[in-house]
Amino acid sequence: MNLTNFQYIQNYIGGEFTEPLSKQYIDNINPATGEKYGQIPNSNAEDVDAAVKAAQKAFPSWSVSSAESRFKILNRIAELIDENLDVLALAETTDNGKPLSLSKRVDIPRASSNFRFFATSIMHFSTESHMMEDKAINYTMRQPIGIVGCISPWNLPLYLFSWKIAPALAAGNCVIAKPSEVTPLTSFLLAKICKEAGLPDGVLNILHGDGPSCGSAIVAHPSIKAISFTGSTRAGQHIASVAAPMFKKLSLELGGKNPNIIFADCDWGKMMKTTVQSSFANQGQICLCGSRILVEKSIYERFKSEFVEHVKKLIVGDPMDANSKQGAVVSKLHYDKILNCIELAKQEGGTILVGGNTVKLEGRCAKGYFVEPTIIEGLGANCRTNMEEIFGPVVTLQSFDTEEEALALANCSDYGLASTVWTQDISKANRVAMKLNAGIVWINCWLLRDLRTPFGGVKNSGVGREGGWDALRFFTEAKNVCVEL
Ligand code: NAD
Repeated sequence: MNLTNFQYIQNYIGGEFTEPLSKQYIDNINPATGEKYGQIPNSNAEDVDAAVKAAQKAFPSWSVSSAESRFKILNRIAELIDENLDVLALAETTDNGKPLSLSKRVDIPRASSNFRFFATSIMHFSTESHMMEDKAINYTMRQPIGIVGCISPWNLPLYLFSWKIAPALAAGNCVIAKPSEVTPLTSFLLAKICKEAGLPDGVLNILHGDGPSCGSAIVAHPSIKAISFTGSTRAGQHIASVAAPMFKKLSLELGGKNPNIIFADCDWGKMMKTTVQSSFANQGQICLCGSRILVEKSIYERFKSEFVEHVKKLIVGDPMDANSKQGAVVSKLHYDKILNCIELAKQEGGTILVGGNTVKLEGRCAKGYFVEPTIIEGLGANCRTNMEEIFGPVVTLQSFDTEEEALALANCSDYGLASTVWTQDISKANRVAMKLNAGIVWINCWLLRDLRTPFGGVKNSGVGREGGWDALRFFTEAKNVCVEL
């Protein structure tokens, strides 16, 4: 696979690369340079309908194909992603602005792991039976739903796109998928990979376009029976309002405002190194980043001064440069939003300890969207800065005296996605984990992921769980059969 300087991205419907019936296009901008480098379709309801027809044609044979044949194709997709690591990583970095080293180390390898994981999972997926003494036996079938919609965001483009598509396909569904319009390139390349891997035409259809035009048409299409969505809480709320009255199955992975709780008895070196990552990896644009850092009062001043020193050393630069630890944020819109959030934090009385400004680079990146990693202190737990998701390189510091106070601060958010706890006291760590209102808790680590574990949040962070058997259960319907003996 090759990339040219200017990318014409097309829809992938019924195994063909096609122009949108809408005849509408969106410019694709490289956030590191601020320049347009491609165009993508802005598909509409007509395009979605064409994709649904292709999926309906493919479903009868795909849904009854053997688990082993699905394994072979999905595993081949994983191999081809690995073989095309360099071009996919370059595409991801060009679209998203993240350092190329990160795309190569994390994003693209995880996309191939997702396909490999669900390729093998479907070979081991099993169902239950329930005996009623000598009266009857129940057995439960798990059948593919039919046509499902998968909609993903821009922060980990191929990584999150494949995290949905792979289990949906493994379970025998046909898929209408839409990546973020801000980062469409790797999913366009994935369509080529799927074709080469022998995925039958119409089994996976990839449409490009924005939320109001393309995403909402997927959600509203009556023949699409389940929606797996990852994105903002606002869009998730809208999607639920349309899909729920149509009785569609819904999986919603939404925003977060994750607490990172640091107790005085932590392993200091490991905590400090990981906290720099959990705050600023991918420019803070990971739903799992810890954006509210809660520090025990006795170590607060030491933590603050060392953390500031470490963060000052993070090099913000051209994502193509191997020395850059921070790249561009994803778009002009998002750049403006982050800067407004920093302004709001100042108005709310926050003190900027480091960062707070844009970064002006020379040369190729002179017009790119770069923001300094920013640490803010002095804000109350309930101000907007500490309540609303920023989703950028911005964290706040708060202190606490007791375990109860730490928990109260951690849990006062409307969100409940992930949290991190740093302490060497094993009882305290587990006690706090039990009381945190979150779908995911990391103790003395961050972003350590086992793909078998349930992934998702509580409160405004979403509904449902992805990963492992949860994903295969979501993408299948249970049918119980009762046989009287
Ligand atoms: P977004 O909600 O703006 O968009 C996500 C996707 O939904 C895009 O493909 C977009 O085109 C589409 N979309 C938008 N409005 C839609 C609508 N009305 N109907 C159908 N589709 C619609 O989110 P984003 O800005 O791309 O991503 C950032 C957000 O994603 C953050 O809030 C972040 O926390 C969240 N996120 C959550 C997780 C998680 O696992 N919980 C993971 C990554 C990102």
